[in-house]
Amino acid sequence: MTKTKDGLFVVFTGAPGCGKGTQARILKERTGICHLSTGEMLREFAKQNTPLGQELKAALERGEFATDEMIIEMVEQRIDAEDCRHGFILDGFPRTLPQAEILEHMMKEKGIKLNCVLEIQVPDEIIMERILGRYSCMKCGAGYHDKFQKPKVYGVCDVCGGTEFARRQDDNRTTVQNRLINYRLLTYPTIPYFERHGLLKTVDGTGTIDAVSGKINEILNIKL
Ligand SMILES: [Zn+2]
Repeated sequence: MTKTKDGLFVVFTGAPGCGKGTQARILKERTGICHLSTGEMLREFAKQNTPLGQELKAALERGEFATDEMIIEMVEQRIDAEDCRHGFILDGFPRTLPQAEILEHMMKEKGIKLNCVLEIQVPDEIIMERILGRYSCMKCGAGYHDKFQKPKVYGVCDVCGGTEFARRQDDNRTTVQNRLINYRLLTYPTIPYFERHGLLKTVDGTGTIDAVSGKINEILNIKL
C-alpha cells in the first residue's frame, strides 16, 4: 500500500475555448500549485538538451505531433518534479481515453490520489462566439474581444496606445468547428470514463471569469 500524498491534484478538462487554461492560471495563483499545460510543457521540454527534449524538438520541427509515448513521458517527468509535490492542475492532458487510463495507472503507482477531474461545460455556440470575437494588439499582444473586452477607447490599445489589431488565422469558424469535432471524438470519451471512476465534477463555464472561478473554488473546497 502506497502512501497517499496530501495536496490538490486535479485535471481541468473541457472543449477548446471553455476557459480551462485561464481558470487553471487563476487557481495556480491562488493556491501555488503547479499548472501543467500540455502546450507550455511541450515548448519548455523541446528546449531541453535531454533525449526526450531532442525527440520532441525533432517532431515539432518536422511539423508532426508529439506521440503519446513522448507526451506521457513528459507529463510523468513533470509530475515527479519537486514543485508538484503539493499538487498540480493538468490542462490539456489526458486528451484521449488511452491517455486517461495511463494517467490513472501512473497516479496509482506514485501513490497520488486525484481529487477530481473538473469538466468546464460551455455550449458550442458560446465557444464559437468567444473564439471568433477575439483579437489582439499587434504592438504589445494585449488581448481583446468584440463583445466581452473592448478597448476603453475605440480602436486604441489600453496597454500601449497601439492602433493596429489582428485576429489569429486559426480563429475562424471552420477551424473552430473542426477543433470541437475533434474534442467530441477524442477527448469527450474520457468524461464518462472518469464519471464511472467517481472522479468527475462539472462546472457551468458560461459566466464571467470571476463567477466561474468562484464556482471552481467551491467545488474544490478552496477557502480564500
Ligand atoms: Zn497594445
